[in-house]
Amino acid sequence: HFDIKQTSSGTYTKTQFIPPEMANTKKVQDKVAIVTGGASGIGKATVLAFVENGARGVVIADIQDEKGQKLAESIGANRSTYIHCDVTDENQVKSLVESTVQLYGQLDVIFCNAGVMDSGQQTVLDFDLDSYDKLFAVNVRGVAACLKHAARAMVAGGVKGSIICTASTVANLVASTLTDYIMAKCGVVALMKCASYQLGKHGIRVNCVSPGPVATPMVCEANNMGVEELEKLFVSISCLKGVLKAKHIADAVLFLASADSEFVTGQNLMVDGGYAFQGAVN
Ligand code: NAD
Repeated sequence: HFDIKQTSSGTYTKTQFIPPEMANTKKVQDKVAIVTGGASGIGKATVLAFVENGARGVVIADIQDEKGQKLAESIGANRSTYIHCDVTDENQVKSLVESTVQLYGQLDVIFCNAGVMDSGQQTVLDFDLDSYDKLFAVNVRGVAACLKHAARAMVAGGVKGSIICTASTVANLVASTLTDYIMAKCGVVALMKCASYQLGKHGIRVNCVSPGPVATPMVCEANNMGVEELEKLFVSISCLKGVLKAKHIADAVLFLASADSEFVTGQNLMVDGGYAFQGAVN
């Protein structure tokens, strides 16, 4: 919104202003949220976006204790708490949700985002089933555990909450040798669809965000490349020819967490600068 005024000399001035009815409306005002994998990358950017946009309490759940604690401290004790939670352990997930409700009174939003990627490309001819089990334990079972316990808390508290899971553009591009990772992310999309169907009657929405390539620690490590090198590569393969940052994904999560998407459920929102149009990925 702009306020345009004519000056005495006949020229115009243009001042940006926020109308009073919009001044205090922040996207997740007073909401309580959990972000798994919140200590780094996309999770960390989402934690900060939730805080900036009015969340009353944001619980950072991760296994990187030092990073998670530092982030919570930088936000402030009453707005953010770090809780160690390995999402592969259902008891830890259950206690994460219980502690959140105890600390902040309820749970409105969970971003089931913790994930891992292994460095080895796997074809079906040399499939390493042990590494497959490890990856599925975090990327599928971990998401299912978080979704289950968060949904139970929302139903018990009568909260019309929002559950957002991190899938990936690769879940739409099943033409690669990232076999186990792609299988896992397709599993997350399938889980989200079932959950949105089942939880709709409770007013609970379930959606996925599917990031394109962002040069986070996970991706740098898996590709054995630095941030700059990876970003250069990613620019060349996105339609928008720009750099996709964790903040772009966080903005989409914010949309799915907020009333701006109040009738959106069962969707997989791709945030990839058009990367998915480009064909096969490796
Ligand atoms: P990241 O490494 O920066 O963050 C992942 C976080 O998950 C880390 O803090 C890590 O400690 C945590 N984590 C790992 N295992 C865990 C466990 N068992 N329990 C709890 N926390 C655990 O990487 P990122 O890129 O921000 O990844 C976040 C999500 O985004 C993942 O699900 C990933 O698969 C997905 N994703 C990333 C990209 C990308 O290009 N970066 C693209 C598509 C999807």
